[in-house]
Amino acid sequence: WAKEDGKGRWTLFDPERNAHRMTRLALSSTLRSAVERDEFTVDYQPLVGLGDGVLRGVEALVRWQHPDLGRLTPNRFIGLAEENGAIVQLGRWVLEQSCRQARTWQLEHPGNAPFVSVNIAVRQVWDSDLVADVARILARTGLPPELLQLELTESAVMGSAGRPLQTLRALSEMGVRIAIDDFGTGYSNLAYLSRLPVGALKLDGSFVRGFGSDQHPNPADETIVTALVKLAHQLGLTVTAEGVESAEQAERLHAIGCDTAQGWFYARALPPEQIGSMLRQAPVRPTAARQVPRVTV
Ligand code: C2E
Ligand code: MG
Ligand code: MG
Ligand code: MG
Repeated sequence: WAKEDGKGRWTLFDPERNAHRMTRLALSSTLRSAVERDEFTVDYQPLVGLGDGVLRGVEALVRWQHPDLGRLTPNRFIGLAEENGAIVQLGRWVLEQSCRQARTWQLEHPGNAPFVSVNIAVRQVWDSDLVADVARILARTGLPPELLQLELTESAVMGSAGRPLQTLRALSEMGVRIAIDDFGTGYSNLAYLSRLPVGALKLDGSFVRGFGSDQHPNPADETIVTALVKLAHQLGLTVTAEGVESAEQAERLHAIGCDTAQGWFYARALPPEQIGSMLRQAPVRPTAARQVPRVTV
């Protein structure tokens, strides 16, 4: 077989590529019914205090337990769900599931209940009534708003000042904290963000990768992050570093003044029972500044 490659050239039929496209199509068309069939689960990745190693919160990360393809990570389906709009239903499901779980942890561990941080797609801001969904879910699950954080990317809060701004205002008046996810990968700036009701920045992992003596040390990253953290703190925002993979990175980030960290150095995203057993352990002892605490599971 031959097929046109779209640029007016004819190429040999590539079965692998075709299979890939078929899978995408198949996945895309079954996303909505998969939500109804309950094929998704949520794992939770710890967010840890850099100074004391205490588990402060968890990020909810969705997985698809596909009947034929097995366990799929979000990079296989979140983009598709955003394209066809299924993200609205899926996102609502993740939100409810996460709030219910966080409420359970709060009841079991009232002294050290972690907050739950849930990713919100652009479409959830524009094509659904996010404020009503959040209000209803908090009421139904009994989770106090202070234990919910919503992660939005720069592109979700940028652009028109209208709908995103109204949504953020209503959510923060409700007592829910807004965090900017993957900060530094978009085009927004702190001056703009400081005018929005945003409480936290999540510094993208690509900055952290340049830290320490790992494969691609980039001294400029450290300079930029130092300045960002300082400015963010002056604007009243807390800063979480994403993608922390080594003790050295954690140590540098702590020295710079980052508040919390998330990454494989501490823990991967875990099923809820494993977060539960972390919470049952005595809170991690505060350690000397030099010694980087590690959360064990
Ligand atoms: P994100 O929100 O930036 O989440 C962090 C991603 O980095 C997660 O990937 C996490 O497993 C991964 N990660 C954590 N620590 C490390 C580390 O030390 N090194 C490296 N290399 N990676 C690390 P995951 O679970 O595959 O999720 C990917 C993306 O999918 C998320 O990026 C988020 O944008 C999206 N996503 C996940 N769950 C949801 C959801 O429920 N709704 C929406 N709208 N998006 C979601
Ligand atoms: Mg996130
Ligand atoms: Mg992120
Ligand atoms: Mg990221």
